[in-house]
Amino acid sequence: MNKNGLILVVSGPAGSGKGTVNRILRDTGDYVYSVSRTTRAPRPGETDGNDYLFVTREQFFEYLEQGDFLEYNEYCGNFYGTPLSTSEQIIAQGKNIILEIDVNGARQVKEKKPDAVLIMLLPPHFSDQEQRLRGRATETEEKILSRLEQTHEELHHLDMYDYIVINRDGETQQAAEDIMAIVRAEKLAQKRNPDMEAKYFEN
Ligand code: 5GP
Repeated sequence: MNKNGLILVVSGPAGSGKGTVNRILRDTGDYVYSVSRTTRAPRPGETDGNDYLFVTREQFFEYLEQGDFLEYNEYCGNFYGTPLSTSEQIIAQGKNIILEIDVNGARQVKEKKPDAVLIMLLPPHFSDQEQRLRGRATETEEKILSRLEQTHEELHHLDMYDYIVINRDGETQQAAEDIMAIVRAEKLAQKRNPDMEAKYFEN
């Protein structure tokens, strides 16, 4: 069977819980998290090199000039991008890579890497999302409103995604397991194993 790792794009509006779900996946040891570069300031508890690679705008544009982004996007006034060199190394090692990126980034990945699996993680309803965002209390009211507003744009592009996973309150483990089930099935997809007939009869 195909030994290559999958490129897994996990998008979700602010407050969807994608950070927590992705941490569960990472802890299984079967997934490598692609650490993005961003120009936004670290939130409390976030560490450089772990949650993000925090860079200045100047540094970000240097990487862009060097062509070292698989994709990138501006979101709410900050830049975010996936390092190309690192992600290619991970895939070449046969490991699954998780890209926790927005809708614009997902579109760029799908164009460059059509084999990528695109998953949208959602709270059950917009009202749950709003409640979670306010509960998090790490951002100003203005930022919260900007992120809620962005959700309309994100959901408008849902048809680009291969799968939708619902992250219910207190059931984050289930959401992570749903993603693991998707990956298991995708790895068995016939299209990912096009040389199976030849391999089957190989001496
Ligand atoms: P946050 O500031 O809440 O960590 O992220 C804001 C948005 O940027 C989220 O939708 C997140 O998925 C997205 N994001 C994070 N890293 C990247 C990246 O490397 N590329 C793109 N396109 N979006 C990203």
